[in-house]
Amino acid sequence: MDTAERVLAYGGGSLDRAGPLRTDPTRLGALLTEATSVLLPIWRDRCLVDGHGPVRLSAERAALVRSAAGETVFLGLDGETAVFAADLSALPERSAVEMAGAVRSVDVRALVGRLEPGDAAVQAYARGLLHWHRQQRFCGTCGAPAVAGGGGHLRTCTDTECGRLLFPRIEPAVIVLVEAPGRSGRCLLARHAGAAEDAYSTLAGFVEIGESLEDAVRREMGEEAGVTVTDVSYQGSQAWPFPAGLMVGFRATATSDEVLVDGEELLEARWFTRAELRDRAASGRPLGRADSIDHRLLTDWLAEG
Ligand SMILES: [Zn+2]
Repeated sequence: MDTAERVLAYGGGSLDRAGPLRTDPTRLGALLTEATSVLLPIWRDRCLVDGHGPVRLSAERAALVRSAAGETVFLGLDGETAVFAADLSALPERSAVEMAGAVRSVDVRALVGRLEPGDAAVQAYARGLLHWHRQQRFCGTCGAPAVAGGGGHLRTCTDTECGRLLFPRIEPAVIVLVEAPGRSGRCLLARHAGAAEDAYSTLAGFVEIGESLEDAVRREMGEEAGVTVTDVSYQGSQAWPFPAGLMVGFRATATSDEVLVDGEELLEARWFTRAELRDRAASGRPLGRADSIDHRLLTDWLAEG
């Protein structure tokens, strides 16, 4: 399978992030008002859509939206076209929708199957970056207001003695397909608290400070399912800016069949054979979210046996 087919939703976008332009405010200012540039309006983590999908604004409409926006950020270059995103979250929803010439707001995750992968990636990127600006209005060191700079890729504390630079934070999480010992062709899936009665998925958890990704895999599998794992191997990663995640996929092998769930985060965890998972899929029960690395880990594993 070639690389393009292996790209997971929300990543692998074709946008050139054009990092050097972020430190060239003169050029960025000129691009912002160029007739060919486009502006993606975002309202409180949601795309603004018309009958064709997320709106892409230019010229007068873009200028109007920018004048009302909280932050306008530079996302990159789509060929020769500069792409910006603007945050209309301060407006009531109806005002934001009307100003953008849209008809409604939608979560990009509800659109992902219908969007070109590159468009889903850029919408998710815009959403995540603007979310960070709304959450990082003040300096965490001295409490003074922080202002956006670098084309929207950093914020600077306005206190002259502090002047701390604040960068967007990514929160990595590991997601793991655990195989039973002895190449027995079974994998461990769990029912999470709050999930539907018959919804099973792979195990996952956030990486903590002072851990490698592999450390986090071993700790999470122990804590959540009482399973000791070895042979932790990287499978791929997925941008998950909802709001700031990076999902890092692994496989690991349990040293024993025994499973002990905490009963809080996980209600149940058990071993599934490939035949069982195929039966579930055939009867319409999805193997994880279709747009997620969870689904990819499972379908890859199924394809091997
Ligand atoms: Zn400060």
